[in-house]
Amino acid sequence: MKFTVITGASSGIGYETALAFATKGKHLILVARRLEKLEELKKQIHSIDESLEVVLKSFDLSNRDQVYNLYKDLKPYDIETWINNAGLGDAGLIIDEDLQKIENMLRVNIDAVTILSTLYAQDYADKEQAQLINVSSAMGYMLAVGNIVYSATKYYVSAYTEGLAKELSGHALKAKVLAPAITETEFIDKANNVENFDYSTGVKKYHTAKEMAQFLIELYESNNTVGIVNENYDFVLNDGIYPVLQGL
Ligand code: NAP
Repeated sequence: MKFTVITGASSGIGYETALAFATKGKHLILVARRLEKLEELKKQIHSIDESLEVVLKSFDLSNRDQVYNLYKDLKPYDIETWINNAGLGDAGLIIDEDLQKIENMLRVNIDAVTILSTLYAQDYADKEQAQLINVSSAMGYMLAVGNIVYSATKYYVSAYTEGLAKELSGHALKAKVLAPAITETEFIDKANNVENFDYSTGVKKYHTAKEMAQFLIELYESNNTVGIVNENYDFVLNDGIYPVLQGL
């Protein structure tokens, strides 16, 4: 039995991505801290297809030991797709920012993504049909002043994943980057410490989490490395954006 792992499946893009993979008949391993939200999602998945295997894992990805323990726990499973989606943002200038929040972002957005991607790539490099999809951001390709630490963590995710994709040429595993722009989820509430941010009045353009999950499916089904939302809010696929130094 083959599985799709989705981190950060308890809300937003991860939640909708789990439903989108369920409609494609995929068995799922869903990861987040809030187990009750994952239970709710599992019920919804079983209302789509009750034959699907849905494994729930409650882990805190800001804790390095838990990141390694998660991977160890999942070793017995055959994982055809691994999606590192869990992440968090910030708001405010670096000079004003809470260092605890910065550290948390570094741990979840960078450390956990790097550790889980590296372990998965080492185990699945030559497994046919295997895919690693890391969720970055349009801010991982354009500096967002006022959200610089978040933006910088996503530059890392994009660079690491595009680079891994290049290193994997000649192997079966494909590494891909999803780079959403503003998407209606719990993300802004948590980044800005607000409740129920109103996307319809608060921003000019945005996608719903359901739309973003469909873009992720487009990327998954393509042979491209990057799926990014551009300035016009169109979703475009390409083979990598960062310049590459050849010949060293
Ligand atoms: P969201 O609704 O806040 O979802 C974030 C998910 O990450 C939740 O399931 C949360 O689960 C999980 N998570 C956060 N910290 C965690 C931790 N320490 N351990 C385990 N899981 C953790 O936000 P979203 O918009 O769907 O975000 C998904 C991804 O899209 C993120 O990587 C984000 O950077 C990226 N993105 C979002 C936007 C946007 O505008 N929404 C734009 C560009 C990129 P628990 O709280 O249950 O642990």
